[in-house]
Amino acid sequence: MRASKETVVSIEYTLKDEKGTVLDTSVGQEPMEYLHGASNIIPGLEQGVEGLKAGESKSVVVPAALGYGEYSDKLIQRVPLDRFGANKVEIGMRFHAETNLGMRVLVIRHVDDKEAVLDGNHELAGKTLYFDVKVVAVRAAELTELAHGHPHQAGGCCGGGGAKSGGCGCSDTESSEGGCCSSEEKTEKSSGGCGNGGCGCSH
Ligand SMILES: [Zn+2]
Repeated sequence: MRASKETVVSIEYTLKDEKGTVLDTSVGQEPMEYLHGASNIIPGLEQGVEGLKAGESKSVVVPAALGYGEYSDKLIQRVPLDRFGANKVEIGMRFHAETNLGMRVLVIRHVDDKEAVLDGNHELAGKTLYFDVKVVAVRAAELTELAHGHPHQAGGCCGGGGAKSGGCGCSDTESSEGGCCSSEEKTEKSSGGCGNGGCGCSH
């Protein structure tokens, strides 16, 4: 089976910048599993993996537009310090906030005595990405995975321990506790499953 729409693909990857510096890698960890065609991973990498089967490797160059987007000045905001209340404000701090481009992770880039400069650009925005990717496994997606838009691992939605009893519970709004993507699992499983692009279970 080849990586294509409606398949669940496991990949090993190493991401480098244009100088060959390793920025991220799955080597030495569990392969990253994603639902192909469901925007679980950046479009350029998904396009690069398209058509590969288990055991095949490829180098994929992803321009910023098909990666984490172009760098945008619109995502730079100056915020008066009093908006932070009693919270500490330090360069490098990150938090989630609503911006005019949706929910973003904002990083404090600069602080003076009056205001802080927040940057909502992804740290890889504007960068060409160099991936070495190897397909570890490809399987047909299950119907529930297609419905949720993400892969389910052994035990159900969001990996081990997620929903061993009573099924995934993703579409059951009444059973949020211990069901799909409880906050505990979300932090545990940061890539591939719920972490990437959100679980979407409650939609
Ligand atoms: Zn799910």
